[in-house]
Amino acid sequence: MSYPDLADSDRQGMQTALRQAGLPDDDLRSVLKVLDGPNLSMGPQIAAFEKTFCEYTGAKHAIGVNSGTAGLHLCVRAAGIQAGDLVLTTPFSFVASTNVLLFENAVPVFVDVDERTGNINIPRLVEAARDLAAGGKKAEKWLPRTGAGTTRRLKALLPVDVFGQPPDMDAIRLLAGELGLAVIEDSCEALGSEYKGRAAGRLGDYGVYAFYPNKQITTGEGGVIVTDDDKAANFMRALRNQGRAPGDTWLQHTFLGYNYRLDEMSAALGVTQMQRIEELLAKREQVAKWYDERLAELPGIELYAVEPSTSRMSWFVYVVKFSKGIDRDAVAQALDSAGIPVRPYFAPIHLQPYMVERFGYRPGDFPVTEDLGKRGLAIPFSSVMTEKMVEQVCQAIRAVLQALPKP
Ligand SMILES: *Cc1c(COP(=O)(O)O)cnc(C)c1O
Repeated sequence: MSYPDLADSDRQGMQTALRQAGLPDDDLRSVLKVLDGPNLSMGPQIAAFEKTFCEYTGAKHAIGVNSGTAGLHLCVRAAGIQAGDLVLTTPFSFVASTNVLLFENAVPVFVDVDERTGNINIPRLVEAARDLAAGGKKAEKWLPRTGAGTTRRLKALLPVDVFGQPPDMDAIRLLAGELGLAVIEDSCEALGSEYKGRAAGRLGDYGVYAFYPNKQITTGEGGVIVTDDDKAANFMRALRNQGRAPGDTWLQHTFLGYNYRLDEMSAALGVTQMQRIEELLAKREQVAKWYDERLAELPGIELYAVEPSTSRMSWFVYVVKFSKGIDRDAVAQALDSAGIPVRPYFAPIHLQPYMVERFGYRPGDFPVTEDLGKRGLAIPFSSVMTEKMVEQVCQAIRAVLQALPKP
C-alpha cells in the first residue's frame, strides 16, 4: 500500500537527505518504508521506539517526544512545578534545562559547578536546598536579585549529566528524599552512560534523552522521557498529544496540552539507531580515547575528569579546557582558519540576555561556570572519525598553542 499524498519526489528528497546525513542503509530503508506505508504519525514506529527504551534502560515507561526540550517541559508539568516555585539547577548547561522552568514561570535557582567535572557542586547544592527549605533570611542569599516572586516553595532538583557524565546522583536523591523534592534528570547528553552501574536517565524520578543529530543516536529531532511513575506517564502521554486523556476523542482535550508528538519517520530512524547503539557508543569511546592519548599530557590543555562513580562514560562531546592565561578565543579562531570546526562550550545560562533582564544576573555571580565557559572548547567529535582525523586535529592544536605569544 502506498501513501496516497506522497509524490516520488518526496521520497527521493528524503532519501537524498538521509544519504547526505551519512546514515547506513538500514536506517535509510526503515525511514523509506514508513513513507511507503499509511502512517506518517501516531503509528507502530513510535510504540516500537518506546519499547526499545524500556528494554535498554529498564524503565517502566518510555514516552517519545519531538525534542529533548519538549521532554523536559513535560517532566516539569508532571512534577507539578508551578508559577513561582523554586527549582535548583545548574547554570553550566544547554539553555533548555533552564528554559523549561521559565515556560511555567517557575524560578530556576542556580548552584555553581565543580571545576573538575562541570557538574553541579554537591556540597553547595545541599546547602542551598536546606537554606531554601528553611526560608526567611537563609534562603535570601541563593535567590536571584530580581524576578524571584513571593511563593518561594522549593519544589524540585534539576541536575544535568554534563557532557554525558551524571553528577553524584546518590547524594542528590538523598537530598530530595530529605526535603520531599522531585528529581528531573536532564540526560540529553548521556544516553548510554552509567552511574555506579545504573543507567543515566534512570537516576531521578524522570529522565530525558535527546536525539538532535549531534547526540549519541539521532532521529533528526526527537527525545524520550523515562519514568517508573504510572500516573505521571499517563499525564505526559496526554500532554504530548494536545492534552487528550485516554478516552478523549480527537476534539476533546482534558488538559492544556501541546503537540510534542514524534513522527513515524523519526521514530523508525530511532529504532534502527538503537539497534546499533553499542556499536555507536564503542566508536565514540574509541575516538575519545585517541584524543585522551594525545591531549592528556599536552601543556596548555586540561581535560575534564571522569569520576570513578561513572562506571560507563557515553561520550557526547569532547571538550578541552585551556589553561588559565591562554586566550581561548584566539585558539578557536586559529583552529577555525585551519579548517578545524570548534565551538566554545557552554555559554553560562545566567548571562544570556533574557536571563540578565529577568533575574538581574551579573558577571561574577557563578565564577566557576563563567571560568569554564571562557576556557572550554568542543573539538570535532563523532562516531565516524578515524584515528588519522583525530591526529590531524591534535596536530593543529599543538601548532596553534606553540605559535601563541608567550606570556
Ligand atoms: C541537547 C540538549 C537538550 C535538548 O535538546 P533538544 O535540541 O531540544 O533535543 C537539553 N539539555 C541538554 C543539556 C542538551 O545538551
